[in-house]
Amino acid sequence: MSLDHRLSAEHEELRRTVEEFAQKAVAPKIGEFYERHEFPYEIVRQMGEMGLFGLPFPEEYGGMGGDYLALCLALEELARVDSSVAITLEAGVSLGAMPVFRFGTEEQKREWLPRLCSGELLGAFGLTEPECGSDAGGTRTTAERDEKTGEWVINGSKCFITNSGTDITGLVTVTAVTGRKDDGSPRISTIIVPSGTPGFTVAAPYSKVGWNASDTRELSFSDVRVPAANLLGEEGRGYAQFLRILDEGRIAISALATGLAQGCVDESVSYANTRQAFGKPIGANQAIQFKLADMEMRAHTARVAWRDAASRLILGEPFKKQAALAKLYSSEIAVTNAREATQIHGGYGFMNEYPVARMWRDSKILEIGEGTSEVQRMLVARELGVG
Ligand SMILES: Cc1cc2nc3c(=O)[nH]c(=O)nc-3n(C[C@H](O)[C@H](O)[C@H](O)COP(=O)(O)OP(=O)(O)OC[C@H]3O[C@@H](n4cnc5c(N)ncnc54)[C@H](O)[C@@H]3O)c2cc1C
Repeated sequence: MSLDHRLSAEHEELRRTVEEFAQKAVAPKIGEFYERHEFPYEIVRQMGEMGLFGLPFPEEYGGMGGDYLALCLALEELARVDSSVAITLEAGVSLGAMPVFRFGTEEQKREWLPRLCSGELLGAFGLTEPECGSDAGGTRTTAERDEKTGEWVINGSKCFITNSGTDITGLVTVTAVTGRKDDGSPRISTIIVPSGTPGFTVAAPYSKVGWNASDTRELSFSDVRVPAANLLGEEGRGYAQFLRILDEGRIAISALATGLAQGCVDESVSYANTRQAFGKPIGANQAIQFKLADMEMRAHTARVAWRDAASRLILGEPFKKQAALAKLYSSEIAVTNAREATQIHGGYGFMNEYPVARMWRDSKILEIGEGTSEVQRMLVARELGVG
């Protein structure tokens, strides 16, 4: 075992660059976008210019030639300040571009990745449907082959899809039933649907509890025709593909959750040192100090957990259990830290102009998206060989 737990010089430089960007370019502006439920195009454009959307992809496809650790470091630093911006990057890279990179043909990669890596276009991943989320094997959307033209004809709907309706959304990768196996179970495949394809409708943005400056929509497909060449990977392999994408994505969500948990510490330490009550800073009280120490302990432990899962992924080792543990732990402690941070801020913590109020509203979804806490516990139990 290597005893050096420190980041490489390149990773540390990236972390610092994103930290500075988050503090200087995101923190002063994002509150207003959040209040107006508005997508922050200019911030996303700047993130594209910095190369953040191309972090884990090879340079030959327009990427930065980095790795999944680099992506996660960027996500953690962004989420220390704001989660809407962080989830836009997470969904754009690990759900939008990654399926094309992992399973696409050379032609599909060359067509889509350069513009996804530069942030000129955003990608989305449409798995969840109104009738099924955790149980994604219950997908009802269908894609049938038109025998004459060879095209896929897609019918159905998807819900809660991140990045699917912005002005720069270029594609949504959708899972659809393309046939039945001998035992009657569905054959699920993944198909690229470019934005603007006739019959593909994007609803108005949802009104959400949190992530208010990120784009989340319901999608419907009515006889949507795309070329045969838009199939991603092999027909019938869609289930295995999205399991892989979600396993990786959980590490990214864990880094994002860790960032939120750390942001709660940052904000609360500064507030505890300045807010006066009973003639002294509230941070002079051991009750507040202990809350802060516990919050720091949780954020630190979550960071260790996601970095462990990320290093296993990068080394090509099994990482399913570690990714589930990291996602489960970091999302739950993000909620706890956000609750404690709000408490430390007293009445001001309930005011939207304070970042901790935004963090509180943004924390809950972390226990739900990309696999609920119950699903993570099911995965861990399965890995333990129970049931
Ligand atoms: C803001 C936002 C953004 C999202 N972005 C995307 C996206 O980009 N792409 C996408 O495809 N999806 C996206 N989702 C969907 C998200 O991944 C799902 O909401 C999530 O997987 C849960 O599915 P569900 O909502 O259908 O809940 P359900 O699966 O109906 O679950 C409801 C409850 O039952 C529990 N439950 C279910 N089965 C079991 C079981 N066997 N044992 C114990 N408990 C169980 C669940 O844990 C949960 O608590 C997003 C959701 C939100 C809110």
